[in-house]
Amino acid sequence: MAYDDILQRLRAAEAAHGRPAGSVKLIAVSKVQPDARVEAVLQAGHRLFGENYVQEAQGKWPAFRDTFGKVEVHLIGPLQTNKAKPALQLFDAIHTLDRTSLAQRLARLAQEAGRCPDLFVQVNTGEEPQKAGILPTDADAFIAAARALDLPVIGAMCIPPEDEDPAPHFAHLARIAERNGLPHLSMGMSADFETAIAHGATHVRVGSALFGARGY
Ligand SMILES: *Cc1c(COP(=O)(O)O)cnc(C)c1O
Repeated sequence: MAYDDILQRLRAAEAAHGRPAGSVKLIAVSKVQPDARVEAVLQAGHRLFGENYVQEAQGKWPAFRDTFGKVEVHLIGPLQTNKAKPALQLFDAIHTLDRTSLAQRLARLAQEAGRCPDLFVQVNTGEEPQKAGILPTDADAFIAAARALDLPVIGAMCIPPEDEDPAPHFAHLARIAERNGLPHLSMGMSADFETAIAHGATHVRVGSALFGARGY
């Protein structure tokens, strides 16, 4: 199945770029995919998934976790501040920390709950006006502010502009993570995950290449 194929390509890219075997995690992006496709990947033994929408994930993952046991689910889509509470309860990691108001809300909720998902700061490396994410020039200060709130910031995430070579964007994100001491890099999707691995990705987010096209 496509799953085995993607895993094989991922392992080959690790080897080709001098990355230790198993150092890159495959996030299977299951947003708007039919349950049967998701179940097939769970049956194959995969236990790390990505979702874009809080409500969709709430409707899907409690039941899958009942059936398949512990499954790690990461939020990779934008998070509205008013959905922060259910997001904190449901997800093991949030890849889209992108503004101060959200950082403050998560910090308060995390204190109440006594736990917090791992956080990635989303950086708008292409400086696209319509895209979420901290501007590269503001990233260092934002990461410092999030840490000052005691938030567990472990990495950086980006979505390069669709019509550009992603490699410079991956390299830029890697530099931002490096100088801020962030060990994890969430970058690379179906079309470019091998390039992202070449630039140090620790988490690649692969949807359509794994599950098939999304029928919206
Ligand atoms: C949908 C989505 C993906 C997966 O995209 P594919 O091109 O289907 O692999 C990865 N990252 C984010 C943030 C997404 O929204």
